[in-house]
Amino acid sequence: MMQAMVLESTGKPLLLRHMYIPACGPEQVLIRVRACAVCRTDLHVCDGELPGPKLPLIPGHEIVGEVVECGTLVTGFREGECVGVPWLGYTCGHCGFCDAGNENLCDAARFTGYQIDGGFAEYTVAHHRFVFLLGDDRSAVAAAPLLCAGFIGYRSLRMTGDARRLGIYGFGSAAHIVIQVARHEGREVYAFTRPGDRTAQDFAEKMGALWAGDADMSPPELLDAAIIYAPVGALVPAALRSLRKGGIVVCAGIHMSNIPEFPYHILWGERSIKSVANLTRRDGEEFLALAGRIPVRTETETFALPRANEALARLRSGEIQGAAVLVMDG
Ligand SMILES: [Zn+2]
Ligand SMILES: [Zn+2]
Repeated sequence: MMQAMVLESTGKPLLLRHMYIPACGPEQVLIRVRACAVCRTDLHVCDGELPGPKLPLIPGHEIVGEVVECGTLVTGFREGECVGVPWLGYTCGHCGFCDAGNENLCDAARFTGYQIDGGFAEYTVAHHRFVFLLGDDRSAVAAAPLLCAGFIGYRSLRMTGDARRLGIYGFGSAAHIVIQVARHEGREVYAFTRPGDRTAQDFAEKMGALWAGDADMSPPELLDAAIIYAPVGALVPAALRSLRKGGIVVCAGIHMSNIPEFPYHILWGERSIKSVANLTRRDGEEFLALAGRIPVRTETETFALPRANEALARLRSGEIQGAAVLVMDG
């Protein structure tokens, strides 16, 4: 048997359940979960802001653990190895998107902790094609935020091309990782937080931001690009107004409140707006290699598995510095 935190209906707290350890299918890997980070997307799933989650559902898609068992068709993993499981849990592998290297857009894609049970549990199973070998050079807690905040943060940073002056709106888990990559690449980072959130602004400056201020402020210099991690549509025109001609605004969240109407002239001048959807396994592999070289360090606040609702509540109210991580055996 195992413990799991289960979403039985959206908008309600997760419930602690004792369940059977899932059976390992022929193409699956059974993993003993050591740590699972809590992502803003988990909030959107639990709050019912994303349509049609599997119910009941075990959320969580930044999973780190060790291989317990491999399905009969699985090669490439051994018992005891440290592995990670991300948001992208399955793709068809043969549609136009998959063939073109855009498996993140596959129409048949399925996602961990949304349509597939995830990592808010002592054990999980994952399709072997979407399991990453992590090595043993970091703790499970330190590695967990890399699996989504890191992967999607990296993909969103790549969308900004070689932007030197980079704005980051919302300084949470993804931002505190991306800033390390951006600084490593010699970029200047301007961090925007909830108005008056001096704690988050101090944290951004400690992490290497050249400037940190309120989201409704203008940066001291026009930006080459901005990435929006906060799920707030009003930040899109705010970011456009802070952008030089030819700059790009990248919306990196899976859900955002409506974008208010704005005058065309703030988009004109070949500025663009783009969204980032999910991740590809290639993003994950590139980022993990880079994170090891830099090396990327994560700030974490840990919660025992039964305290998952508290972790979600603290994330919702913006009280987490860095990433919230559930630990299974602490
Ligand atoms: Zn996520
Ligand atoms: Zn496909």
